[in-house]
Amino acid sequence: MPTDFLPVLSDTHSRDGLIIAGPCSAESLDRMLLTARQLCAQGIKIFRAGTWKPRTRPGGFEGHGAKALGWLSEVKKSTGMLTATEVGCAAHVEAALDAGVDILWIGARTTVSPFAVQDIADSLRGCDVPVLIKNPSCVDMNLWIGAVERFYNSGLRRLAAVHRGFKIPGETSYRNAPLWELVAEFRKELPGLPIICDPSHMGGARQMILPLSARARELGYDGLIIESHCDPDSALTDSFQQILPSDIKPVMDIWKGCAAC
Ligand code: PEP
Ligand code: MN
Repeated sequence: MPTDFLPVLSDTHSRDGLIIAGPCSAESLDRMLLTARQLCAQGIKIFRAGTWKPRTRPGGFEGHGAKALGWLSEVKKSTGMLTATEVGCAAHVEAALDAGVDILWIGARTTVSPFAVQDIADSLRGCDVPVLIKNPSCVDMNLWIGAVERFYNSGLRRLAAVHRGFKIPGETSYRNAPLWELVAEFRKELPGLPIICDPSHMGGARQMILPLSARARELGYDGLIIESHCDPDSALTDSFQQILPSDIKPVMDIWKGCAAC
């Protein structure tokens, strides 16, 4: 099992935890800039936005794609924040890297497919870009471990896992159940791999973000990825779980002093 992972980012970007925030989807340049400026004012240094949106069923908003990568670079230019987006295939990787995106993430619906993960990993061979790997939507830790190994085998070392919870049958109070104990076992398999929590997709509700973030901090996680939008109620995707940039402050306070990862 690999253990020689490198820090995702330099110390200056993650002194108080690797905290990433931004809208679920890149909806328009104006909305992105407004949200980014507000998050930047709160001290957030890494801005997320989904440019290609993987929808479980067709027909919803599927993102503005490559056009929205230009908006991410405007955010970077205007705020100095680093940027992150989801990639689901080799063509996305090429476009995102060309547009200067700093961090890539692999979504829960991609981690389930070894073919897709391998294609993306192959396309990244020789690159030093950080890649965040979300847990697969189903409860199969080996798919998650396997995805980490595929990127590792392509020479990538700036890797981190993102714990966003699992789709399980039956009623739960979560959108995606955390299954903290199973994830603790996953962490034992890959010591040295930073792990960050995604309380937005886990809880699926604004009021769950703070308690889930606190739990992740207690468990020694290395950071968070949080969905935040300048007008959450009107968001085109995941509106129930996005918070106003001003509401991120108490979450960040919990993470003050977290070791850089
Ligand atoms: C997202 O981060 O917006 C997203 C689609 O997440 P996940 O892959 O965890 O569902
Ligand atoms: Mn989302």
